[in-house]
Amino acid sequence: MSKLQSSKSKSFQEERGSGGSGLATPDSRLPAEGFDQLAVLLAEVSRTFYARGWVLGTSGNFSAVVTRDPLQLAISPSGVDKGSLSADQMLLIDEHARVVSHHQAKPSDECPLHIRVVLDRGAGAVLHTHSVWSTTLSDLNWDAVSFQGYEMLKGLAGVKTHEHFELLPIINNSQDMTTLAETVGSVLREHEAAHGFILRRHGLYTWGRDLAEAKRHCEILEFLLEAIGRTRLLNRGN
Ligand SMILES: [Zn+2]
Repeated sequence: MSKLQSSKSKSFQEERGSGGSGLATPDSRLPAEGFDQLAVLLAEVSRTFYARGWVLGTSGNFSAVVTRDPLQLAISPSGVDKGSLSADQMLLIDEHARVVSHHQAKPSDECPLHIRVVLDRGAGAVLHTHSVWSTTLSDLNWDAVSFQGYEMLKGLAGVKTHEHFELLPIINNSQDMTTLAETVGSVLREHEAAHGFILRRHGLYTWGRDLAEAKRHCEILEFLLEAIGRTRLLNRGN
């Protein structure tokens, strides 16, 4: 069993008993993981998500909080194949997205979005995929993708029943990351219970109080996006 799988199990059990609100909040009970350990775990997530087809090529990016005061994140570099990303390629950045580790590489252009989510949600990790289903469903002129009645919803923090209503807001894509981060901030305030959001024709963002929870949320939301996409296709013939 990998370190991340081990941590995942513990985090899930703790969360199930917490009766949380669905928002990711920092939890001082969880052991702090240093940069080196987080870099290994983030690289493992990257290769796993690549194998699932969620971050093909150099798409997608991943981050985890190393320290909160001052804020420092371990984050994937720009332009690197996510199927072969290694721990020694992971960067350490500050709250202004400046690289503070001894790397020449550039961090992801989408750093401001990660930092916004960490600051606004108290997230310990942020994961971003470019999956087929998040791309195609956000191309349907909807303002959001919603789910209700699915057993898999119970994998989201604070959710106790399949009757939970989950809404992922869709935000129009942009290359202006400063403005986009401001939009993300206002959308997160408007949808306080959301466990993620989608950039239109681009991909899914989700997070968790730690990397294990963020990975679980990504798996749950990607499953649900694919499930409603496939159901919609099947229903066309009925
Ligand atoms: Zn992206």
